[in-house]
Amino acid sequence: MMHQPLSIGALIDHAARYHADTEIVSALTEGGFERTSWGQVGANAHRVGSALRARGMEPGDRIGTLAWNNRRHLELYFGVPGMGMVCHTLNPRLAPDQLVYIVNHASDRMLFIEKTFVPVIAGLRDQMPSIRGIVMLGARDDEAAAAIPGLLFHDELLAEGDATAPWEALDENAPSSLCYTSGTTGNPKGVLYSHRSTIFHAVFANNPDGLAISGADSVMPVVPMFHVNAWGIPYAAAAVGSRLILPGPRLDGESLAHLIVDEKVTVAAGVPTIWLGLLNALETTGLKPESLRRTIVGGSAMPPSMRAAFRDRHGVELVQAWGMTETSPLATMNAPLAKHRALPFEEQDRIANGQGRPVFGVELRIVDSEGRVLPEDGVTEGELQVRGHWIVHTYFGQEKPALTYDGWFDTGDISTIDPDGYMVIRDRSKDIIKSGGEWISTVDLENIAVSHPKVANAAAIAARHPKWDERPVICCQKRPQSDLTEEELLAFYDGKVPRWQKPDRVVFVDTLPLGATGKVVKATLRQEHGNVLWDDAVAEIEAEKAASGTSEA
Ligand code: ADP
Repeated sequence: MMHQPLSIGALIDHAARYHADTEIVSALTEGGFERTSWGQVGANAHRVGSALRARGMEPGDRIGTLAWNNRRHLELYFGVPGMGMVCHTLNPRLAPDQLVYIVNHASDRMLFIEKTFVPVIAGLRDQMPSIRGIVMLGARDDEAAAAIPGLLFHDELLAEGDATAPWEALDENAPSSLCYTSGTTGNPKGVLYSHRSTIFHAVFANNPDGLAISGADSVMPVVPMFHVNAWGIPYAAAAVGSRLILPGPRLDGESLAHLIVDEKVTVAAGVPTIWLGLLNALETTGLKPESLRRTIVGGSAMPPSMRAAFRDRHGVELVQAWGMTETSPLATMNAPLAKHRALPFEEQDRIANGQGRPVFGVELRIVDSEGRVLPEDGVTEGELQVRGHWIVHTYFGQEKPALTYDGWFDTGDISTIDPDGYMVIRDRSKDIIKSGGEWISTVDLENIAVSHPKVANAAAIAARHPKWDERPVICCQKRPQSDLTEEELLAFYDGKVPRWQKPDRVVFVDTLPLGATGKVVKATLRQEHGNVLWDDAVAEIEAEKAASGTSEA
């Protein structure tokens, strides 16, 4: 058989050749949209890649991007690795000191930035000594040029480049892109993907039970291109020639609702908070997402009530996926098996509300705290470990592998796995509530809260407790103008969870703190509200003691 190394260059050449006129709709950062095509993106990828080489960038060099989901970013997704360099996507929502840390840790040599970030980068420039050049994603702009001496412009680089320049000849294990974890615990860690892992992920995860996007789809990745390669969707879309809708910086429910309707989006992907926003916007605007068939939801647990609402009110199927930066990210996706068709609706629904089963190329197991492998019976909870073709081996710049002694990656999640491989995330090990030696899943408590009609969003946290160590508290964001009371929400748990799992308190908040990737930051909530039970509980215990002391006397 022939052997050709798997490469991202070959991937974009395929899209440019066989899907040349398939449209790519891209939101402009300054407002409005532009329309281009796989043919154009392919040619520009060669141009920008060759221009970078002509300016002295070498294979292996890291090229940073600070950019939204748009056409120019897409060109870098292919042009940078095609020419052997590494596309290092940076999260614009990070704090400046974290950004500086990551750029320096990666030793980025060039930085492509949106115009919006020119002032920030102008201020940080001196703290990033590895950077040889900064490129603004756009046409020449005098104001920006004045702010950063020597600033280059993406559109001028395209003009310098050569659309027929051949790609770098690469080993398929050569690095292609780099993404850092968001560093909720300690410093962020870099995961360096290879051409091989990226192509495997793009092709294997896009099977009919997986992403299931085709050349007949109009796909909108709402998940940012700086968040684990937008879950690989740009690469999967290039492989099959999907029409692509890139939403740019405006990810509020109303903007997305209009985009879905105007551009007849058929498949979308993003974190649950995005879809909660869309659901609210569909209600307030009355817009009907008639073209939308499926939405892939991952990054944090999908509330079952949200899935039911999309299905029943809008005819949209929500498919849950699970993964992490370290797993490229798609590792499990939820699709039924033939034998499930005969099951009662409730049972099918229960299975569909989980995180799904591994795609070929990924294996899962659960272990106890001693590392002993646990049974996959759908009930036993354990620490989730994973291995496969697109799972991290060693973090970027570290020497020691990130694996267990027997070659598995420990995810930090607690889950169950059933005999068919269907996995359910119970919690992250650092979030789960340990109440008197028993575990309470915050996911379960949150799913109940958000199914209450007066709740916009909710997060369950572990609050310190003198008797039980930790007890659950709900941080709740009400719907606008809602008259929800603490008693009403607490009563809503009756009969839905065992009594000892019922939250002790509800704290109402104006908004839940969202992290750089749109997930609720529980560490902040724990800091702010983790002590709400303590004083009351201490007083209660003291009173109990006093009372028993009195009665003994
Ligand atoms: P971060 O640590 O910054 O959140 P990732 O984006 O890599 O970084 O997040 C990975 C984590 O997100 C997983 O370990 C898991 O806890 C959570 N996660 C991802 N998908 C799901 C899902 N479908 N359900 C529940 N949790 C999920």
